[in-house]
Order: sequence, then C-alpha cells, then structure tokens
Amino acid sequence: MNFISTAQKAPPSTLADAIRSGLAQDGGLFVPETFPSIDLNSFTPDLSFPRFAHKVLEPFFVGDILETQVAEFCDRAFNFPLPLKPVNANTFILELFHGPTLSFKDFGARFLAEALNFLSDTQKTTIMVATSGDTGSAVAASIHLKPNLQLIILYPEGKISARQEHQMTCWDDNVHALAVKGNFDDCQTLVKKAFQDREWNQRLRLSSANSINIGRLLPQISYYASTSFEFYRQTGEAPGFIIPTGNLGNATAAYWAKMLGFPIREIVLSTNANVVLPDFLQTGEFRPRPSLTTLANAMDVGNPSNFERLQNLFPNFSTFKQEVSALSANDEDIRKTIQTFYQEYRILICPHTATACFARQSLSEKPWIVVATADPCKFNDMIEPLLKVKVPLAESLQVMLEKPIQRISVEANLNAIKQLLKKRGII
Ligand SMILES: *Cc1c(COP(=O)(O)O)cnc(C)c1O
Repeated sequence: MNFISTAQKAPPSTLADAIRSGLAQDGGLFVPETFPSIDLNSFTPDLSFPRFAHKVLEPFFVGDILETQVAEFCDRAFNFPLPLKPVNANTFILELFHGPTLSFKDFGARFLAEALNFLSDTQKTTIMVATSGDTGSAVAASIHLKPNLQLIILYPEGKISARQEHQMTCWDDNVHALAVKGNFDDCQTLVKKAFQDREWNQRLRLSSANSINIGRLLPQISYYASTSFEFYRQTGEAPGFIIPTGNLGNATAAYWAKMLGFPIREIVLSTNANVVLPDFLQTGEFRPRPSLTTLANAMDVGNPSNFERLQNLFPNFSTFKQEVSALSANDEDIRKTIQTFYQEYRILICPHTATACFARQSLSEKPWIVVATADPCKFNDMIEPLLKVKVPLAESLQVMLEKPIQRISVEANLNAIKQLLKKRGII
C-alpha cells in the first residue's frame, strides 16, 4: 500500500519511506492512499492483543519491506496489559497507560522504535524530538538499547514536572536529553532548524518521532479496533469513545479504526482550555493560536498538528461536523471531575483523562468508553493535595525514579547545541 501526503503535491511513498522521513516532501502529513476493507469475521476472541494488532496493521504493510516484521514488532512493542474497567452501567475506562512510561504514547513510540531500528540496519539513525511532556519519556524508553538508533530530546528547562524530567534524563546510553533555556515553541523551532541544516541532516540521518510520524499513528488504531470488537462481541452494542485530545494523533487513530469498519458508534473529543477544535466546529474557521497552560499539560496545543489528517478524512465541513464533536473542560472542571470520580467511584484519574470524564457527564445513556491516557501517579503533585490521598506509584516509574539523572542545560541556539553534542562525542 502507498501513502500520500495531505498537501497532495508529493509523490506517493512506501510505508517504510514514510516512517523514515516523518514528514512528506511537500510538508504535508502521510495518510493511507486507501483504507483496506477488513473482514471482521476473521478476528476471533482467542487472539492475544499483539496478534489482533498484527491482523489490523497487516494490510497497511502489504508489499512493504517491513511486511514480514510486523508480527514481531507487535509482540515486542505491545507486551503490557490493556484493561477496560467498568465505572457504571454505561461508562467504561480504557486504561492505555500500562506501558513502561505510563502513557498511551508507549504504544506508538515502541512500535515506531522497532520499525526505525529495523530500517537503520546499515546506517544509524538519529531521532530528534521536541517535547513538553510524555512524548520524550515514551520515545526515550523505546529507543534506549536499540543498537541502530540514538535520540536527542529538547525540552524546555524548568517548564516540565520533576517526574517528567526524570523520565527523560535517566538514560545513560543512546538517549541525550537537553534542557533548553526557552519554551516549548523554541524547542520545536530548533528541531525544525536542525532538519533544514544540511550538515546536520546528512551527518546524522535525522528522523523524527513526533506524533506526525505515521509509524506512531498506525499502531494506535489497534487498541480502538480490539476494544470495540471485544465490547461488541460481549454486549451486542457498538461503544462510543471519548478521547482526551491535544495534537489529534490519538483521535485520528480512532477515526481510522472506524473507517476500517470496527464497531465504533461515535467519537467525541475532549480538550482542555485550548479550544481550537471546538471553535472550528462552531465557526468553520480553523484558527491556530498560542497554547494556554493548563492542568492537562500534554494537551496544551494551540495548533494541533494532525488536524490536516482529520480534514483529509472529512474534507467537507458538514461531514466533518457530523463525524467529529468536541467538548472542552477548563481547569476548574478538571479539578471537580477528579474529585467526583474519586468520591463516587474510588477511581483515580489523571488531569487529561478528567477532560474525557467531564465530557461523559453531558453525553447520552448509550455505552461510552472513556480513554485514560496517563497513569494518575505521573501527576501526584496536583492530585494528592486535591484529594488528600496518596496516589500509588507504579512500579515502572519507581524504578526510573531510582536512577540518577544528569541535567544538561543549553542555550536556545542551534550552534550551541551542535557544539555541546560535538564536545560530548554524540555527533
Ligand atoms: C499526548 C497526550 C495527550 C494528547 O494526545 P494527542 O494524540 O496529541 O491528541 C493526551 N493525554 C496524555 C496523557 C498525553 O500524553
């Protein structure tokens, strides 16, 4: 299968090339040329999640050099549980946070690392990402110990939580995290500049691992596919999903699962106070703006990068409005919802998941699956004073927190970064 660019100017690309390059030559994002039709009868209840995921992903890889590897990628990448827990009669929580760094980003990052490592057999690849939160740790943990890859992370110094920083800076091998004296936008600009820098790009064979990479997005289809399939098999009803949304990566994967024919009734997106998407649905005008800082910081996005993919799926505004709905929650709603879920159900939720739980309260009595994107223990700073209870620390985080860290600060300047990396023998 070929992949085409949302900007429609670049020639079609193989999946391996699309994964390697991240962005299409014309600056657009890769999307599948067609959606394969899937025979739901060929999925049986005895399939393990990695086997199920393989069957979902297989058609996208037909004819690609990665085709024969997908089964193994799934086995290695998806080696953690995916529980669906009941909240009440028609509300369920899908916990996507049982991977090594405790957010849903482990699914995409681990699969992508497998693919890039395989594709870099003859020449090493350097992955460069800018991050303000969970991406850095998920990508770091995925790339650590992959022999053909190295990772450079840029994060804004002093602007991420202590635990988030720890999860990025505790690796001592092929993962290099730099604390940039600037904000997230500065980090992102620096990464873009590095990609445009000839010497840098040729020497390092740069690749990205941001959520625009199709190699992160495709694997995320599989948990919507498997969860809706199993829910339908057990109850005879197609569930709706409510998805906490920032860059619209996780959401795009859900729409793609629905396109493939999996039994998904409808999809509702929840945002924090960054309301570009709800505003678009109201006005028909897509107006990117600077992001606001909220309690759900991994969703502080003012210009959602995967919007182009959703628009590519639903080019006509009235269809877009029919298929996509969005509800927003401000910080006060987030706090109240975390309290309510604990008091009524004894369930601890993270601030991102709280936006979806908040949205649930104003939706129908039909069955809804709330997508839980991160483990609440990553946000103990905020949750513990609010609820006056201790949030249990997940074991994988505890192990990471026991490792020593090394903070490397650098000016927000590409030359300064180059010099620092040269001095440390990294490039
Ligand atoms: C990244 C992230 C999100 C937003 O996901 P997108 O794919 O960018 O929409 C939501 N919650 C958590 C915890 C995240 O880390």
